[in-house]
Amino acid sequence: MLGLMQDRPLLISSLLAYAETYHGATPIVSRDSDGSIFRYDYTSLGVRARKLANVLLSLGVKPGDRVATLAWNTHRHLELYFAASGIGAILHTVNPRLFTDQITYILNHAEDSLLFFDLSFTGLVEDIAGQLPKGIKAIALASAATTPAGKNIAFHSYEALLEGASDQFDWPHLDETSASSLCYTSGTTGNPKGVLYSHRSTVLHAWLACMKDGFALSIQDSVMLVVPLFHVNAWGIPYAAAMCGAKLVLPGHAPDGKVIYELMAREGCNFSLGVPTIWLNFFKYIDETPSLTLSDIKLDRVVIGGSAAPRSVIERFHATFGAFVIQAWGMSETSPVSTVGTLLPKHKGLPLEKIVDIQVKQGRAMFGVELKIVDDDHKELPKDGTVSGHLLVRGPWVTAGYFKGEGGKVLDAEGWFSTGDVATIDSDGYVQLTDRSKDIIKSGGEWISSIDLENCAVGCPGVQEAAVIGVAHPKWQERPLLLIIPKPGVTLTRDTVLAYLSGKIPKWWTPDDVLFVAELPHTATGKLLKMKLRQQFGQHLITKGGLVD
Ligand code: AMP
Repeated sequence: MLGLMQDRPLLISSLLAYAETYHGATPIVSRDSDGSIFRYDYTSLGVRARKLANVLLSLGVKPGDRVATLAWNTHRHLELYFAASGIGAILHTVNPRLFTDQITYILNHAEDSLLFFDLSFTGLVEDIAGQLPKGIKAIALASAATTPAGKNIAFHSYEALLEGASDQFDWPHLDETSASSLCYTSGTTGNPKGVLYSHRSTVLHAWLACMKDGFALSIQDSVMLVVPLFHVNAWGIPYAAAMCGAKLVLPGHAPDGKVIYELMAREGCNFSLGVPTIWLNFFKYIDETPSLTLSDIKLDRVVIGGSAAPRSVIERFHATFGAFVIQAWGMSETSPVSTVGTLLPKHKGLPLEKIVDIQVKQGRAMFGVELKIVDDDHKELPKDGTVSGHLLVRGPWVTAGYFKGEGGKVLDAEGWFSTGDVATIDSDGYVQLTDRSKDIIKSGGEWISSIDLENCAVGCPGVQEAAVIGVAHPKWQERPLLLIIPKPGVTLTRDTVLAYLSGKIPKWWTPDDVLFVAELPHTATGKLLKMKLRQQFGQHLITKGGLVD
């Protein structure tokens, strides 16, 4: 027997309609590429999103069509989030940090019919014009006065199109399982693959951010949205903010430590999210600018994900602002948030050091997410916090397959998706990532966690950023090599770094060598590009004659 409750679909347009009705006056602040600040609210977002919906239809966009963006975190990009998905089209956010040939591959694979771009990408769009999908129209996210004519391709002005459009529009009643947005994973090998989210998965995932034991996002919050709108739907925050009426602050074009700091101070931001590199640069700016009045910053929660949150960053947020770091784990394939590092009642009153021990873990599964770890033979392993294995996930916001079937079948017979991460899960359910399976260091048959070593090394005074890779060794197959970017003006030596690590890690994990470098390569989503480091330094110990005792 079926229940007798209404079958109303979970739609992205309903998030916007709710925000307009209940939080219409909540501010949305957006920094334009020239540094100017634009302010409006959820009421005006709704009006402009409806105008944009009419524009999209007039440009011939049909349900299921893909609409691409090459854009920073701005109010116009946010309008596309709601308008494109709202009419039943698919918002395809392209990561501009990818290589140009990956960008053209993605646009063609998705067969995008429109490309919205920020003016800073004008040259890029002109350069790739000949390789874009046939018939695609390019729209500059700019006023008529600032939109160039376009070389090799004609440009339309976003503001001119909106100006002529009606703000009357009824959002269609879509099937909640229809596709709403598309993100390509930035795999380190092979072509990027598309993850296709649905209205239902997006709304369910947004609820998670608003749960008290999730990110506790609420109408009380002023959010500095550092994580890019082109990185897994900015971790779902645009939708969650509309759901709960949180104030959104969008920092625009490639925000650095200074921009983030100043906007946070001016807009009273108490909540933010970003990958570790963002925060390393944020604190670098603070260290280099002694004139700042740190009490201007009202941060109380910061979500760190995408890569492991270093202990030193967690401690620094606490010491500098009294802010609590919530570590979250997930991936494009999981919308992305799957685990969240909030505390249990039994942790109340623990000394700070013990609390940080919990914060360095990747957190516990939120309702809806199921997790398990398995060995190489796919046999389930115990959740004892010690044994590590391949991490599998399933749930209503986890992918069931890639766009156009790329990569074939991705789920096992019971619907589990293999994440490619290696982790332990403890008896409370806290996940601790050991490594990506391809990055783990296999030394004489034992595993060494490159993440643990990096987290420890980054706490060494004078270290700006650290990377650890497994490099070839004649006796042990692989040994850890530590690469360090020192802080400006600091001279570090191999011996000082190794002395710092001593006692903090098992002795046999001690890196066989420490190299000091000016920069480290990152992927388009800010993760260390270890494949490139292995190509460059993989033979380091062999060519040095094997340093190990
Ligand atoms: P992406 O699909 O680009 O978001 O990358 C997903 C991958 O990032 C995951 O499979 C992890 O390897 C890594 N990742 C995400 N969050 C964390 C975290 N909190 N700690 C360590 N690695 C993480």
